[in-house]
Amino acid sequence: VITLAIETSCDETSVSVLKNGRQVLSNVIASQIQQHKIFGGVVPEVASRKHIENINQVINKALLEANVTFNEVTHVATTYGPGLVGALLVGLSAAKAIAYALDIPLNGVNHIEGHIYANFIEDINLEPPFLSLVVSGGHTHLILMKDYGVYEIIGKTRDDAAGEAFDKIARALGLSYPGGPEIDRLAKEGNKDAISFPRAYLEEGSYDFSFSGLKSAVLNHLNSKRMKGENINRADIAASFQEAVVEVLTEKAIACGKEMGINTICLAGGVAANSRLRNMLSKRCQEESIILKYPSIKLSTDNAAMIGCAGCYKYIKGFKSELDLNAIPNLKIGEG
Ligand code: ATP
Ligand code: MG
Ligand code: FE
Repeated sequence: VITLAIETSCDETSVSVLKNGRQVLSNVIASQIQQHKIFGGVVPEVASRKHIENINQVINKALLEANVTFNEVTHVATTYGPGLVGALLVGLSAAKAIAYALDIPLNGVNHIEGHIYANFIEDINLEPPFLSLVVSGGHTHLILMKDYGVYEIIGKTRDDAAGEAFDKIARALGLSYPGGPEIDRLAKEGNKDAISFPRAYLEEGSYDFSFSGLKSAVLNHLNSKRMKGENINRADIAASFQEAVVEVLTEKAIACGKEMGINTICLAGGVAANSRLRNMLSKRCQEESIILKYPSIKLSTDNAAMIGCAGCYKYIKGFKSELDLNAIPNLKIGEG
């Protein structure tokens, strides 16, 4: 199977060519970060327009890099949700046009499912079942992946997503968008024990998350420092905030893995790129004899290769999307 995969759910126009789902022949990512930076976040209208401007070039570049022609493509995969509707529609329409013109099967893919599949590309021997900690710009989920395409959500955030918290705190600290990598970098210069921010473990036994209390605590800390005219150490705040997020993510994932008797944890989503999270989770997994997997940075944040991998497994399982497939901005995992 030669899959052409397209991802345009947010601010990356990405196209990948894969062989048999797990072998990436190319994975081209055109980021729009520069266009959105001046606004401090993604502007949906700008995102859609940029995707339209970029999509054909990115498709051609992906084919060229893979040394594959249109006629050699046998399968198309595309993200159809969750994400920004206007952005999703660009990739979805291109994918449908290609599937129709070449008369080849199409599979719509859930973007979050795609993030988990990045692990199958990173480690070609990885097989379910495993526990996945999905931490991205819009999601924070603990998901038991029982088999390909079979998921059980064990816990999720009740308010902000982990990446969203990183981005909001970065903004309050005057860092540029996207804030996650900025905080990661700045935290290395700070003291993680400087300020004791709250950790929300919620009720005993809960695997849900909550980051809004932590966000308020950091904002209150900043405000009170400003009001008193005291010096603000941004590196210490970044490090202490990051530590609070990472500690809760790590301890919940470990406790969940132990309770369920699962010996493999796979990190997924943009926040999986966080160096402190990788570090702390690696250390804790080692202590608990749990195997930890995480994708490379390029496969952690948005990319089409992960979508192609997930789409290929759907195809192999006999699923096929129709050409009237629509974008679903709030698509939930396990629903498609
Ligand atoms: P979703 O996948 O939930 O639809 P998204 O696609 O916008 O949302 P991703 O691309 O998966 O999100 O991840 C982007 C998020 O990851 C942003 O919030 C960004 O700040 C965060 N992020 C990226 N790198 C790091 C890092 N090193 N440390 C912390 N957060 C990071
Ligand atoms: Mg992005
Ligand atoms: Fe994403």
